[in-house]
Amino acid sequence: MKEANLHSPLITCQAKKHNIMNKNIFNVFESRFPENREACFIETPNGTTYSYAHLEKETARLARFLTDAGVVKGDRVAVQVEKSAEVIFLYLACLRAGFVYLPLNTAYTESELNYFIENAEPAVVVCKAQAQTFFENAKSDSLLHVFTLANDGETGTLVENSRSTDAEFETVSCDTDDLAVILYTSGTTGRPKGAMITHGNLASNGLALQEAWEWKQEDVLLHALPIFHIHGLFIACHNVLLGGSKMLFVEKFDSKTMIELLPKATVMMGVPTFYTRLLDDADFNADVCRNMRLFISGSAPLLEQTFNDFKKRSGHTILERYGMTETGMNTSNPVNGERLAGTVGLPLPGVAARIVDADNNILTEGVGALQVKGPNVFKGYWKLPEKTAEEFTADGYFKTGDMAEISDSCYISIVGRDKDMIITGGYNVYPKEIELVLDEVTGVKESAVFGLPHKDFGEAVTAVIVVENGQTAPSEADIIKQLKLELASYKVPKKIIVVDALVRNTMGKVQKNVLRETYSELYNQ
Ligand code: AMP
Repeated sequence: MKEANLHSPLITCQAKKHNIMNKNIFNVFESRFPENREACFIETPNGTTYSYAHLEKETARLARFLTDAGVVKGDRVAVQVEKSAEVIFLYLACLRAGFVYLPLNTAYTESELNYFIENAEPAVVVCKAQAQTFFENAKSDSLLHVFTLANDGETGTLVENSRSTDAEFETVSCDTDDLAVILYTSGTTGRPKGAMITHGNLASNGLALQEAWEWKQEDVLLHALPIFHIHGLFIACHNVLLGGSKMLFVEKFDSKTMIELLPKATVMMGVPTFYTRLLDDADFNADVCRNMRLFISGSAPLLEQTFNDFKKRSGHTILERYGMTETGMNTSNPVNGERLAGTVGLPLPGVAARIVDADNNILTEGVGALQVKGPNVFKGYWKLPEKTAEEFTADGYFKTGDMAEISDSCYISIVGRDKDMIITGGYNVYPKEIELVLDEVTGVKESAVFGLPHKDFGEAVTAVIVVENGQTAPSEADIIKQLKLELASYKVPKKIIVVDALVRNTMGKVQKNVLRETYSELYNQ
């Protein structure tokens, strides 16, 4: 039956046009681009526009340039630059050429970057000019080239050296199982782990979201998220590309710019902080949302209060969804149907979700550990086969690390995280990573890091420290200064409290729940 289908005249004709046998996600995107390639793909606030025709040309040029420079399928291309349209073209060029794109948070410090270079062994790094010498001196046998890209996306050696390259490139053939991206996630044991995401993961998840969110070519996405994270890079950009639609591309969230642009948009995606900041702005009202179809929230829990306040002020019901780096999106509240505050909705098409107890027995009620399975689930952690095996059940479900409840009507509510992860402004912070650095500060004997409710950030990274016997406590400012040398600033505790001893249970484990209770009002004062 399958054979017969493959050879039907219609399928052969489509296969010729878009080579549907090639599972490279770029090929899937391209098959859905608007027929009129002069249609706008990206518009920036200063009015610069980039068409789909430009996208095809620029990605071909960059893919050809990097291929000519010796980069081959499967090689990693690490990118640490500010958000610009050119970075999107670079990302798409890497997909097109079968390279593995490795986006790096712009806040990472040199110490963190050294680890990523050593671990991921990229063939190419694209960075800001200021970081060029650092990367060129990084200890790496794999690194062939370091190119620069300026904040405006228009200058730097990547653009300048590739300018005369022909914009001719045939999209490299990929299987669904071929790696497309490695995204590092903070690790519970201290070191970030590289999540290996395939062309098939990205395509299946993107198409499921197109269906669930009823994406249309006429949609205009207001994009203000960073593009080194799954939310801004995959969820936001892929929906635009698969819809053949347009996005208003804002460098970073600022409520005034958002309010100015909202009337030109139909969809906005944001972390909960976007929504609280819009509500804090007196100029935000229903009128600026007059053309909006959908406000989507994710990456961290949306408070019921924010959900209700937003509805009152804008007339729109925020659609909350849930996912993670390793899985892409798993669940979403419906476009047509009830969007329930405090829930992350229903499993997406093709995604199976279940909750289990500590012995992996499936629960039909109550809170349990959430597990998911589907074509969206990643291939594993880079160079960590044992860790990967630990995170999957015998029957192929991925252990998300989130605790959840499933209602009778199959709506899922995330009630907490089993690994004490902190989500601050939409970014994940694993306490262990911060504790390891804090414990190295002179005068600090031990530490515990935890999250506390914070109006703006959702949660604020907070630390308690015990001072080394006979030493005076280093000042909070000094510790923070030192931590900033080692850690991206969003990971650095907002407050550090000196205590006599850490509260521990009989098994010697620090009781973070007690710490969270004790200091729950710290940021409300
Ligand atoms: P990341 O890999 O950075 O996308 O973070 C994934 C984690 O963010 C998940 O495991 C959840 O703990 C959390 N998360 C994402 N979306 C939501 C949501 N809508 N509600 C609650 N937690 C969420």
